[in-house]
Amino acid sequence: MNDSDTLEALEAALAAQRSAALAAPFPTRAERVRDLKALRMALQRWQDPLSRAMSEDFGGRSDFECKMLDVMAPALQIDHALGHLRRWMKPRRRAVDWLFLGNAARVVYQPKGVVGVIAAWNFPIIEAVGPLVTALAAGNRVLIKMSEFSPRSTAVLRRMLAEVFPPEQVAVFGGGVEIGRAFAGLPLDHIVFTGSPAVGREIMRAASAHLTPVTLELGGKSPAIVGRSASIATAARAIAHGKAFNSGQACVAPDYALVPRERIDEFVAATAQAFRRLYPNPAADPQYTRMASDRHAHRTRELLADAVAKGATVVSCGDGDGNRTIALQIVTGVKPDMRILQEELFNPILPVIACDDFESSMDFVISRPRPLALYYFGHDRTELDRLTRKVHAGGMTVNDWAWHVFQCDLPFGGSGNSGIGSWRGPEGFRSLSHAKSVFAMHRLFPIQLFHPPYGTWLQRMTLKLFLGRGDPLSGAAGPMPEKEAA
Ligand code: NAD
Repeated sequence: MNDSDTLEALEAALAAQRSAALAAPFPTRAERVRDLKALRMALQRWQDPLSRAMSEDFGGRSDFECKMLDVMAPALQIDHALGHLRRWMKPRRRAVDWLFLGNAARVVYQPKGVVGVIAAWNFPIIEAVGPLVTALAAGNRVLIKMSEFSPRSTAVLRRMLAEVFPPEQVAVFGGGVEIGRAFAGLPLDHIVFTGSPAVGREIMRAASAHLTPVTLELGGKSPAIVGRSASIATAARAIAHGKAFNSGQACVAPDYALVPRERIDEFVAATAQAFRRLYPNPAADPQYTRMASDRHAHRTRELLADAVAKGATVVSCGDGDGNRTIALQIVTGVKPDMRILQEELFNPILPVIACDDFESSMDFVISRPRPLALYYFGHDRTELDRLTRKVHAGGMTVNDWAWHVFQCDLPFGGSGNSGIGSWRGPEGFRSLSHAKSVFAMHRLFPIQLFHPPYGTWLQRMTLKLFLGRGDPLSGAAGPMPEKEAA
């Protein structure tokens, strides 16, 4: 924690950003483009220090994964925003009602003001910089609160952003839960929170004090449904990669797999083999990401022990180091009272659940809180259509995992327990802007015809035209029946 991570410093930063926003409330497109380009250049310049800092925070994390998701993905998001900004910012003409013909209506996307961003630790840079990109594109000022589990990433990001932006435009804070609480209680104009559903509820409660709107990017148990038409080799390769990426510490990692009963053995063997191909020796491999802290590693072992104690079978797909390196652990014989079926895993444990048919896999997912991601493996169009329309989830990838998260033009967000809203793409731009309705009355429009005294011929005709006479036989017109009036 930095000395400046205090409530007083937060309040001072907000006051400075608020008065800067009042002084320059609507940055031009040229100014926004300049800021986004400067941020992109900074990401390029700082990619190595950022990657090193994240790796140090994790006690070992793949340089490629650090750069691809945390640095390159926001850079691509900037390219996308630069290509679409003119269209996003453009005021939209809207139709005026028939009665008001001759006047003009439009929607202007106005910057909200100061946006607060609270990041988790698992992809610390993209969770801060991703919302920052959209917030800047929408013309806002931004306060960022990083996680207490990523202090080195926080320090490097703070230096990088201070090089590009004055503090009255972008400021970064670290600190733990207390600072998080204080941050969520500030009178911000919007909060983008990434974290757990439990803390998401607290954020919403705190934000309600000022009626601050929120975007909540939460987690949950994202299922991978393997249909009967699936290639087991494809499903196994994708799911093994999904569990190995960041050691399963990803909000969209496949949490568990639903597999046709008769193909369980084949699936488990193929997934174990796929993992071993990716990481033959995880403990000695610097490309295999460690668990983010002793606490997270300990919790993973506790979850496995709980499952084994309740009768599960575990296939370990490689040697860990007994410490923060844990290889993929595939669990079969899963029962509802096991913690691995109740809690979001966020680690390289893969529960595999046997299903008799596709309907029962869908029912399994529907009966639980809505997940952030849903994966379907198979080539049955009817199954895919039913899944897409019937099952709620933040987003879907078909025949692989997570790649929908890389598509800058798609919104990325949850549904129900996995979140509210999205900070990305056109939907993100709109959520971090206020869609202001502007109706301009033409100077010759005779609006006084609708003023009192009421009952003019034109007023009566207008009502008659739009409402008709009413139907005296239905009892809806005329005086109230005596009984009711009494
Ligand atoms: P967390 O909810 O514990 O913490 C997230 C952030 O909130 C941290 O900065 C933390 O300091 C702060 N915080 C904690 N308690 C707070 C409080 N009471 N008030 C205000 N702020 C508080 O989550 P985590 O352990 O850092 O991250 C893991 C969770 O995040 C998982 O559930 C995962 O699925 C989810 N996640 C979601 C996404 C997404 O985009 N949907 C991405 C990454 C992680």
